[in-house]
Amino acid sequence: MDKDCIFCKILKGEIPSAKVYEDDNVYAFLDIGPVNKGHALVIPKEHHETVMDMPDELLCSLAVAAKKTCSAVMEATSADGVNLQMSNYKAAGQLVPHAHFHVIPRFEGDGFKHWAQGKYEEGEMDQYKEKIAKLFK
Ligand code: 5GP
Ligand code: ZN
Repeated sequence: MDKDCIFCKILKGEIPSAKVYEDDNVYAFLDIGPVNKGHALVIPKEHHETVMDMPDELLCSLAVAAKKTCSAVMEATSADGVNLQMSNYKAAGQLVPHAHFHVIPRFEGDGFKHWAQGKYEEGEMDQYKEKIAKLFK
């Protein structure tokens, strides 16, 4: 637990939340500022800042809970689709530094925009591939 973390405060019950699911390792609740109604957040009960800080087993539990949450949110909202999305670090849009998946119900024509796509210069894709591939442990 991190005493200054909003999501840890939610887990401790210090801040109220609309819980939709809970198990030994994971808690899921509705986002207070939904992209679409039913937008949920799925968080580990242990405080970790990003996906990269999480033990693999805990991440597996989080992923499985996120999958279940996708199904429940889609069915409950009669959504046409669902985004399972995660931001890591401020530069990527992470506002709350407690790892979390967003489960966002999506509807045809709801106007939510995806990121714009860029392109590689000649040979650049290969350079990035080499740099990234050699760092897997
Ligand atoms: P991030 O930008 O870090 O990926 O997303 C954080 C999310 O947490 C935001 O979508 C925001 O609406 C939500 N949020 C922030 N504070 C609270 C809160 O006190 N309660 C709930 N239910 N959601 C919160
Ligand atoms: Zn926390």
